[in-house]
Amino acid sequence: MKIHEYQGRELLAKYGIPVPAGQVITSFDQAASAFKAVTGSQTSPLAVIKAQVHAGGRGKAGFVKLVRTVEEATEAAKFMLTNRMKSPQTPPEGLEVSKLLVAAAVDIADRAGGGKEEFYLAITTDRRSRRNVLIASREGGVEIEQVAHDRPEAIIKEALHPLLGLQSHQARKVAFNLGLTGKLVSQAADIMMKLSKLYVEKDCSLAEINPLVVTTSGGASPTAQPAAPGVLSVMAIDAKFNFDENGLFRHPDIEQLADPSEESPAEARARKFNLSYIPLDGNIGCLVNGAGLAMATMDIIKHEGGEPANFLDVGGSATEEAVTEAFGIILADEAVKGVLVNIFGGIMKCDVIAQGIINAARGFKNRDGSIGFKVPLVVRLEGTNVDAGRKLLEDARKEIPTMQGAVDLADAARKVCVAVG
Ligand code: GDP
Ligand code: MN
Repeated sequence: MKIHEYQGRELLAKYGIPVPAGQVITSFDQAASAFKAVTGSQTSPLAVIKAQVHAGGRGKAGFVKLVRTVEEATEAAKFMLTNRMKSPQTPPEGLEVSKLLVAAAVDIADRAGGGKEEFYLAITTDRRSRRNVLIASREGGVEIEQVAHDRPEAIIKEALHPLLGLQSHQARKVAFNLGLTGKLVSQAADIMMKLSKLYVEKDCSLAEINPLVVTTSGGASPTAQPAAPGVLSVMAIDAKFNFDENGLFRHPDIEQLADPSEESPAEARARKFNLSYIPLDGNIGCLVNGAGLAMATMDIIKHEGGEPANFLDVGGSATEEAVTEAFGIILADEAVKGVLVNIFGGIMKCDVIAQGIINAARGFKNRDGSIGFKVPLVVRLEGTNVDAGRKLLEDARKEIPTMQGAVDLADAARKVCVAVG
């Protein structure tokens, strides 16, 4: 589960990591008062207006803007709230922006030898080493993916001990390797320690600060070091978090940060019925129980020359209603030209699935208003109560004329690929 930057900043602040003060607005006429509030203590006002969407690359897309006056703030807010944000991380049609963060902007210190003191800092789980890993780079800012690709040596990685977590000597070493000196080393190391504590305590799968900056504007937030002219300090000016959904049940505080408007309607619908649904680019809808079987189903569809339109796992013990809903989700995708149902009944009973299919067909409304399935449907059932399931489908054949049975998975994949051409 993802959260917005402004929520991420609050989380950082809660763990004692310095972030500039900010306010969220939802309409451009709130920009003026937010601008005044966050720049109130500055001698020469500077704020940053930032689109709050669950995608990065905002800076390059023009959805992170530095502003010096109330007028500039209002204009930037108007632009962001009336245009869709498009970046390599959004769908091609872009994302609608309905919330903005108005934050006190900071001066980023110049780096000796050119550039600005912007760093990348993140913690994530490295599946290969089966450890959490701290990732840092001196070349933070807007193009970290490019840096990682072109010059992997510019990325520092430090594995966290599974029981002890990040050790302070590791954090200090990383801070030194980032090129920090003096008091900034302890400040950056302290931020790393706090970030790793947050990562573990909140069951994150990603905690990212990009950029972490060296600034003379300390004091912009209640959590920052007291401001003293010319004194440098380290601060986080962006925050990105992902949380492990399997751990959410023990973090109601995090769960309530979810923003349903950032999910696609299909994702929201699937979540409601406990279905794991991931849309893909092909035209064969898949309804499967169990993630492993879903993978195998996608593989064999590809093997037969087809392209899956989605990954949909109804889980080990779905109800009739969940199966009916799953059909609704799959068929709402206009690209779907055929559906493959592949169920291995274990705890899940084949007759329950069969009844779910029949109910779905009886209730399914096509775009032209007619009722019933129009796309070819291939059903492969095996396992618990398979005979009862097959009988139910056989008896309902007249109601679902586009349905075919299959003897095994290969047969099913072949039939659905032929059916969609
Ligand atoms: P992203 O592009 O979606 O990751 O958005 P960021 O919040 O990381 O902002 C992108 C870039 O805008 C940063 O790398 C900075 O260079 C710049 N930026 C953002 N906030 C500030 C700020 O407060 N002061 C200054 N000087 N630059 C900023
Ligand atoms: Mn960023």
